[in-house]
Amino acid sequence: MATKINGVKGMNDLLPGQAARWQEMEAVAREVFALYGYREVRTPVVEPAQLFARGVGEATDIVKKEMYVFEDKGEDLLALRPEGTAGTVRAFIEHGAFVEGPQKWFYMGPMFRRERPQKGRYRQFHQIGCEAFGVAEPFIDAEQIALLDDYFARLGVRAELKLNTVGDGSCRPAYLQDLRAYLASRKGELCPDCNERMERNPLRVLDCKVESCQPVLAEAPRLLERLCPECAAHFDAVRSGLDALGVRYTVDTRLVRGLDYYVRTAYEFTSDALGSQSAVAGGGRYDGLVETLGGPPTPGIGFALGQERLAMILEKAGRAAPERKPVVFFVSADADGAREALRRAAELRRAGIACELDPRGGKMKAQFKQAERVGARYALVLGGNEVATGQAKLKDLATREETPVALAELVARVR
Ligand code: ATP
Ligand code: MG
Repeated sequence: MATKINGVKGMNDLLPGQAARWQEMEAVAREVFALYGYREVRTPVVEPAQLFARGVGEATDIVKKEMYVFEDKGEDLLALRPEGTAGTVRAFIEHGAFVEGPQKWFYMGPMFRRERPQKGRYRQFHQIGCEAFGVAEPFIDAEQIALLDDYFARLGVRAELKLNTVGDGSCRPAYLQDLRAYLASRKGELCPDCNERMERNPLRVLDCKVESCQPVLAEAPRLLERLCPECAAHFDAVRSGLDALGVRYTVDTRLVRGLDYYVRTAYEFTSDALGSQSAVAGGGRYDGLVETLGGPPTPGIGFALGQERLAMILEKAGRAAPERKPVVFFVSADADGAREALRRAAELRRAGIACELDPRGGKMKAQFKQAERVGARYALVLGGNEVATGQAKLKDLATREETPVALAELVARVR
């Protein structure tokens, strides 16, 4: 035998049973998002590397360390997308979608980050995300958060909502100065990552999960107490919107989005079922992003949800992935029966009824076993006798009960 070739580390196969779970997540997303007026956009998996350097940020871990970048045969520098927002915004600008006024878009698909693979963290993973462009008013924030809350509820999943604000260009700079000074004053108590980030990206320090950093971060100055009047009003309105919609949340003053163009609303949904990688979805307002990527000033807010993490929650909750099972399994007794089974199966399928037969034929006992293995509801034995009389017996595989059925009425009876 030739040597076997395995898949790339951190990139997973989704086998048929698991793919059913993905289909469910995606089908429910399409249904719920449509109720809120979000429309699907599909953009390429590969984009100019420059797009992410600008759109995600040169200083972020994603761009600095985790991006798969390659030269396209000595021409352009391209990247596998590490997230979905930058490409969506590029398309929004490139096709002039902004001239039509506010737009709500969603996407789903694979993303790539060269992270250290571990539970809940992979190198190819899947995100479902929403972006609302063109509305600066806070009720769209509340509406989008409610959409995600609805989505989880539809899937029967419990996730906790954490909400914060990261201010804007008028209140954040002064705060960042104080935060930097505070962090510098306690630098010896902070981990190497925090020390590295405190100058460049002090907000991200607040997000550090290292145990020994927690006491220092708990005492850090809080932006929430120093918001400008506009940001304070926006935050209040988002909160009252969520209250009006009956969405429960907790304010987490250390929840941040680390990039400059993120303003005001930041939110995250977490689940205990996930362990240390507890975030299942994260979102925020990015009023400067469209402009940063060369479009006209356009406010926006979006989130991305990790499908692998959502799958883990669903699995832990014992929710089986819904898979379509055959309604009828044809068991053939002889060659005439096998030919009739092929014809009848085609008839049922044309009528939208899932059915199976064992193309290997063989012993009836083995065929019944196969019927049970694939989870069929009924078995129908066909042989020369049934073909001649046009009468057969439909056997309920759960109750073992048999009901006579005329082959000519099979579709109607099964339905
Ligand atoms: P984390 O703090 O967990 O690394 P993040 O801030 O990098 O998350 P985002 O870039 O906001 O995450 O992506 C949104 C969601 O995508 C996350 O909440 C998570 O569910 C999922 N996600 C992010 N990175 C990965 C990954 N490497 N593998 C699997 N899922 C991921
Ligand atoms: Mg990350």
